Amino acid sequence: MTSLVADPVIANLPYRHTDDVFIDGQWQDATGTGRTLVTNPATEEVWGSVPQASIADLDQAVAAARRAFVGAGSSNGWRDLAPTVRAGFLLRLADEVEKRAEAISHTNTWENGSPVAESSRAASNAASIFRYFAALAGLLETADIRPFPDGSGETVVRQDPIGVCALIAPWNFPINLVVAKLAPALMAGCTVVIKPASPTPLSVRLIIDAVQAAGIPAGVVNLVTGPGSFGDALVRHPGIDKVAFTGSTPVGRTIAGACGQLLRPVTLELGGKSSALVLPDVDLDALAQVLIRTCMRNTGQTCYISTRILAPAERYDELVDMVTATIAAAKQGDPMQPDTVFGPSATRVQEQTVREYIRSGLAEGACATTGGDVASGFDQGFFVKPTVFADVTPGMRIAREEIFGPVLSILRYSSLDEGVDLANNTSFGLGGTIFSGDPDRAFALAGRLDTGSVGLGFFASNHAAPFAGRHDSGLGAEFGPEGLKAYLSPQSVHRRIR
Ligand code: NAP
Ligand code: MG
Repeated sequence: MTSLVADPVIANLPYRHTDDVFIDGQWQDATGTGRTLVTNPATEEVWGSVPQASIADLDQAVAAARRAFVGAGSSNGWRDLAPTVRAGFLLRLADEVEKRAEAISHTNTWENGSPVAESSRAASNAASIFRYFAALAGLLETADIRPFPDGSGETVVRQDPIGVCALIAPWNFPINLVVAKLAPALMAGCTVVIKPASPTPLSVRLIIDAVQAAGIPAGVVNLVTGPGSFGDALVRHPGIDKVAFTGSTPVGRTIAGACGQLLRPVTLELGGKSSALVLPDVDLDALAQVLIRTCMRNTGQTCYISTRILAPAERYDELVDMVTATIAAAKQGDPMQPDTVFGPSATRVQEQTVREYIRSGLAEGACATTGGDVASGFDQGFFVKPTVFADVTPGMRIAREEIFGPVLSILRYSSLDEGVDLANNTSFGLGGTIFSGDPDRAFALAGRLDTGSVGLGFFASNHAAPFAGRHDSGLGAEFGPEGLKAYLSPQSVHRRIR
């Protein structure tokens, strides 16, 4: 495993152990007492730590965001800048993020064990999200005028930024799941307080560095660190106008409850249990090429991946053989090596959760064709051997619950209707894929899947299209114009036509 001395990017990082939070354009010492340790999941080495901010720090961050939103005296607030001016800041921010690509990648991998092949794309992906939202400035500048149906007047529909937003992120993609919120919030004219997940509080500091380098005014972006209870205080803070959250369904429900009580707008991107619906005319070689990206991306720690494979009875054995061989052949190991496909689980807790699911699969009668709850083969790190379960039936926990680790479940269906029913037989509704040799047939079938996104022969999220979970997978959408709208509040101004 790559050690600290062997990685000069990490060894020279100016803030491995820090006392500060970013408030009103400056790093300042947090006044809380606790600390959160940052552990490399491949080595179990504690290599960093951050403070747990106090409620007084939180009050300051929210107040700074409010001042930056409305402006002071004669100086404009962020909300008052022309959309094209804010877009200019986003474009500079995109460039500054790209300059930090290597440090972002290494820090991300050291925090959560994402293979560097994955984390090395984080900065360019983040930059492209900023650029996409910058390009939507025109939407905010185009007058939206709607005549009264009886001709008695007209209404100018203005779009105001909602205000100060709380952005709460999980650990699996610590950069992109922040940027997916930050970019539309800034474009809309909102200001933000970010709380990263406790395992991944350091990589996001490079986004803050980029915010500073891009010259974004003080107070527009603030970063505070603390545990889940601190996130709860942020959600309920009286100075917050909107909450954007990505994370687990149980925490999402708690946040939705708080926001419901407060009548506070909220966007939730939650868990999933998506299916790959494989049709009898599938090209198995083509499926093998995209299998890991589609079904086990980021060591199975990706919300939308198709972790249940629904196989037609007539091709079941062939499919199980292909999936087993493909997963068994993929390299697991040091996430800093460019050819590593599977890293460790991100945390000890996650490793134990995944092992518990593997044991439950075996206990309920599924057959592990590779992996299974055996030694990981590593003498350190939170590694779980990638596991494929065949003979999975719909009632098993591994068929229904989100595992969030390198575990695939293969179920059998006999008719297409049964396959569609199986795909929809989950409390979630996030992603899903269809593998068929007939693109028209696959496209028609997509409409029968009750999920927010469907990929035909592959899966990827597109910044220009809404990413929205149905049912237990969330509320509202990120990305696309829909994602920008989530940070805007319409105002209808009625007037007589002169
Ligand atoms: P999590 O436990 O729900 O935590 C997510 C974030 O919420 C963390 O920053 C966490 O802080 C914070 N938090 C915890 N309790 C809170 C509370 N009561 N109020 C406010 N904030 C609170 O999720 P996770 O374990 O980090 O991430 C894994 C989950 O995220 C998986 O279920 C996965 O499916 C889901 N996910 C969904 C998407 C999507 O777009 N749909 C994307 C990625 C991940 P601490 O870390 O300090 O506890
Ligand atoms: Mg958690």
